Amino acid sequence: MQMARLLAKNVGAKKVLVKSKPAFLVDSMLGSLVRKLRFFGFDTLYVANSPDDEIISFGINHNRFILTCDKEMYKRIVKARAQGTLLKGSDDLEDISRTFQTYGALLAEYMEVNSRCSMCNGLLAKRSHAEIAEKINMEIKSRQKQFFECKRCYKVYWEGSHFARLMELSKRIDNRILERLE
Ligand SMILES: [Zn+2]
Repeated sequence: MQMARLLAKNVGAKKVLVKSKPAFLVDSMLGSLVRKLRFFGFDTLYVANSPDDEIISFGINHNRFILTCDKEMYKRIVKARAQGTLLKGSDDLEDISRTFQTYGALLAEYMEVNSRCSMCNGLLAKRSHAEIAEKINMEIKSRQKQFFECKRCYKVYWEGSHFARLMELSKRIDNRILERLE
């Protein structure tokens, strides 16, 4: 909680202290950001082609933090007193750092990898070799011990090179937040 207090102080007096894991509502044009937030374990809904007012009222009613790279949309978010932040849309490291800094937390405080499907936002379940036998080739099975399967779309995940790259990114995100607080 010490960090939350420090961050809250830094981002401005109107921000309240954060107590729960954030859930997100992401505007169009931020597809790569959506997949990364889900990888890090955050409940993230992607809304494309929805009217701004509907997105904002959904965010307020469902307590979701709205992410957009549309300046006009962001003005509406502020006016409606919804929670959200304006992002660049071209740099995921910068955008995710900005998101958590505005929220008043470090990514690592709430990160839960292997919990959510990057493609559909469904929850993942642990699977043994036998359970995913028909879906994964022998080479991957020989190299990996643990698998995860999406309960909604049945996509299978494992901790390959992609996993290592994103874990590295998570450290850079938190380092950037901490650098800004110094
Ligand atoms: Zn899925």
